[in-house]
Amino acid sequence: MKNYDVIVIGAGPGGMTGALYASRANLSVLMLDRGIYGGQMNNTAAIENYPGFKSVLGPDLAKDMYDGATQFGAEFAYGSVDSIEDHGDHKVVKTDDGDYSAKAVLIATGSEYKKLGVPGEDNYGGRGVSYCAVCDGAFFKNRDVIVVGGGDSAIEEGIYLAGLASKVTIVVRRDQLRAQKILQDRAFANDKIEFVWNTNVTEIQGDKMKVTGVATHNNQTGETGHLDASGVFIYVGTLPMTTAFTDLGITDDAGWIKTDDHMATAVPGIFAIGDVRQKDLRQITTAVGEGGTAGQAAFNYLETLK
Ligand code: FAD
Repeated sequence: MKNYDVIVIGAGPGGMTGALYASRANLSVLMLDRGIYGGQMNNTAAIENYPGFKSVLGPDLAKDMYDGATQFGAEFAYGSVDSIEDHGDHKVVKTDDGDYSAKAVLIATGSEYKKLGVPGEDNYGGRGVSYCAVCDGAFFKNRDVIVVGGGDSAIEEGIYLAGLASKVTIVVRRDQLRAQKILQDRAFANDKIEFVWNTNVTEIQGDKMKVTGVATHNNQTGETGHLDASGVFIYVGTLPMTTAFTDLGITDDAGWIKTDDHMATAVPGIFAIGDVRQKDLRQITTAVGEGGTAGQAAFNYLETLK
């Protein structure tokens, strides 16, 4: 089994920053990810709120962060982590491709899209139902699409889709948006975007091959209806990627990992970073800040083992 000072699980912005700080402190570091480095940045077109850039493409920022994270010797390996065994002064990280050992572990596995949970959603996945406008928006050029949700991701991606689609209808289950004011202002000013308020999507409908629209229910009037569309983009929240860590007793009831200000969990030597944490603001800036804190905290923890 290969041994490291620090293993970082998840190579999104948080994990890559943790790896940068730990390796620059001269620790041996392995980043493990079940996919390509970059995490959710790979699903984001223009990032306009990362300091130092007026606007930067997500995959470009991911590549720059990866180059920075590996410049002091941090390694990267593919592997989907199934569990962590805590043996006090060392931890065993078990993956689908073998086991690794480390004195400290940084968990930076992020979160994933919540499904709407309505009939048709699974059937039409990849045939009109999407959770990523940047990935799939181009398939809907000059066609009508629906966005479900009222938070930052829904509005941000609705604006992105308006640059491609002929019309974007945003279906919101409340009478107002949760998204940041600047995003709301942009969406309201965009004449390709329409809003349908107080409405739940109750079914994704199609012709068996592809999506043709959605069934709706107005939760104020009780009225039911149908909206035509070729694509349905769903942004109704996120779930923590923590099933591999539930046995450690470090998560809250909803599955988010609890930490202190040093990103330390209840298990000494295990830290958590970024979207996977119990916190308010899930963004790249917050993930990288926590990555720096956790990388340094791991160094301090290793000093206590000497
Ligand atoms: P993630 O980026 O989610 O990375 C987690 C990594 O862990 C992934 O690579 C995943 O493959 C890996 N992983 C998960 N489980 C395992 C496992 N068991 N084993 C191995 N690897 C695993 N933020 C901004 O600041 N500005 C924006 O403009 C912006 N736009 C966004 C647009 C969209 C559509 C989305 C979805 C998000 C956006 N965000 C934006 C949010 C931002 O992308 C996240 O806050 C940020 O990526 C979180 O970083 P992270 O490192 O915590 O996790």
